[in-house]
Amino acid sequence: MVMTPLWTFAEIAEATGGAASAPFAVSGVAFDSREVGPGDLFVAMRGEATDGHKFVGKAFDQGAAGAIVSEAVDHPHILVPDSAAALEALGRASRRRMSGKVIGVTGSVGKTGTKEALFLALDRACPDRVHRSVKSYNNHVGVPLSLSRMPRETAFGVFEMGMNHAGELAALTRQVRPHVAIVTAIAPAHIEFFGTEEKIAEAKAEIFEGLEPGGTAIIPYDSPHVATLYAKAERHAAHILTFGMSEGADVRALDVVRSPSGGSIVTATLPNADICFTVGAPGDHWVSNALAVLAAVEAVGGDLAAAGLALAEMPGLPGRGERRVLPVAGGEALLIDESYNANPLSMAATLKQLGREQAGRRIAILGGMRELGDRSADLHAGLADPLAENGVDYAILVGAEMTPLADALGGGIPHAHVPDTAAAIPLIQTEMRAGDAILVKGSNGVGLSRLVAALADAA
Ligand code: ATP
Ligand code: MG
Repeated sequence: MVMTPLWTFAEIAEATGGAASAPFAVSGVAFDSREVGPGDLFVAMRGEATDGHKFVGKAFDQGAAGAIVSEAVDHPHILVPDSAAALEALGRASRRRMSGKVIGVTGSVGKTGTKEALFLALDRACPDRVHRSVKSYNNHVGVPLSLSRMPRETAFGVFEMGMNHAGELAALTRQVRPHVAIVTAIAPAHIEFFGTEEKIAEAKAEIFEGLEPGGTAIIPYDSPHVATLYAKAERHAAHILTFGMSEGADVRALDVVRSPSGGSIVTATLPNADICFTVGAPGDHWVSNALAVLAAVEAVGGDLAAAGLALAEMPGLPGRGERRVLPVAGGEALLIDESYNANPLSMAATLKQLGREQAGRRIAILGGMRELGDRSADLHAGLADPLAENGVDYAILVGAEMTPLADALGGGIPHAHVPDTAAAIPLIQTEMRAGDAILVKGSNGVGLSRLVAALADAA
């Protein structure tokens, strides 16, 4: 059997308006030379820090079959004036030739988890016909890259879209042209660029601008910003599905109980079906993401039952809720690794989850939440409430951003405030006891993943 290539040189030349130096065909696309594999197209981009043209030789050493370049090279290539614009053109061409259904995912939190869960949910019924963006490739380079990698026979394409500024999603969604667009949740992430959460909601709602005619908008019913999202959805979507826990949501969890493995068993109702399913990842926030997934599967006419089964495998992403059992003197402690990211909404969601653990002591190791601008101090101090409400027995606060929280806790919940992750590691190592449940959460830049690694390596 002859495999159809992902792209032929002629198709790339036509899509980008570039000139081909020689015939070639490719089976993949990459712009990071470290990611290039045999048969790939290497897109040489000029960035602020580096120029991809320097790595063309390396890309071909690793097996690249062709390149997109803006200066001629001694390898098969397509010459274009601007490689970034060419990648975008290739992404658009990929979307045009695809006849399946496309789902776009945005939100302040939960984009990657929801995207991955959607992949699992659709792949169950249509193995090898579902394409998704990898990692968090969700910006002006990641989105066209993910589009350009989509095989032509794809039945379902799932794309994560992110933004730091107003207008960015409007541009991305016009490339993705989703049939279904999901906003997972609105939270004060990147608020320093926006000023208010309301403005974040407006910017996230831009995803609906690119919806295909007859498209569906999926929005979080329990969000304080549901009205803003709904108003924008009404202008661009033929259908709107809300999801959430409260009465009135179109896709609604009626009952949630803990599963023996730490996840949730959920009974939910959808407009045309009732369904019971297990969510592998612990916490109500993953239940919420799972409801969005089921709403999207319903909207694209996918197999709900298969999707429900697949959600038991969700999400398996590093640093987003991974549970590890650590051997300690006299027994075991539970470590919940949330070191990948943090903002006030995800802090509240995961502290609630900690509060539900049947544990001897509940320990929270919390690092700063970044990009909160002039609301940073207030929002950090505000964590005192969820710490108290969820029965946290001891907190280790990491970094200078935590000073307002240390002040707010005062003589209340016992806590230690340390300057950085390196100082937190020996502290938890001596503090940890059998029966403890330990939540580790902070913005990626705080480096709490190093603390998790130190505890896991010692185990
Ligand atoms: P990024 O902007 O870095 O790409 P993301 O939006 O893709 O992030 P995920 O990586 O899926 O988000 O999840 C990051 C963290 O957000 C999780 O570890 C969890 O703590 C939290 N989270 C996920 N979904 C929700 C939700 N629906 N509500 C609140 N918090 C959530
Ligand atoms: Mg992501």
